Amino acid sequence: MDCLFCKIVNQEIPANILYQDDKVLAFMDINPQAPFHALVIPRLHISTLNDMTDEHSELVGHMIKTAAHLAKEQGFAEDGYRTVFNCNPHGGQTVYHIHLHLLGGKPMGWPPYQETLKVPV
Ligand code: 5GP
Ligand code: ZN
Repeated sequence: MDCLFCKIVNQEIPANILYQDDKVLAFMDINPQAPFHALVIPRLHISTLNDMTDEHSELVGHMIKTAAHLAKEQGFAEDGYRTVFNCNPHGGQTVYHIHLHLLGGKPMGWPPYQETLKVPV
């Protein structure tokens, strides 16, 4: 299977790794969208959040805990941060190996999508 993040797990391509254990890896995003932008991924290949089963609950919980731990370590836990799983095209997913984005270091906007304002003619 040709998966970019499996290649990072298998050390076939390099990444700026911040944390790793037997279940997950956290590394810096190559194209940061905030002053701090990391990705937390499972070692296990799961393509999208739609493929998550009950057996993955603990693993995904561990990914979330890892992100929260990194936020503390980076010093922006109290100010706040954003965690995101993008799923499939409408969610903006481009790499089909689940990953949790951790963004911090500045205030972020919400909501991420707004209907285009329809100007009356
Ligand atoms: P998605 O759009 O699937 O939610 O997020 C994929 C993320 O992976 C993007 O933020 C993108 O910048 C990041 N990314 C893509 N290729 C690489 C890579 O080779 N190395 C790293 N560290 N991040 C990558
Ligand atoms: Zn993979």
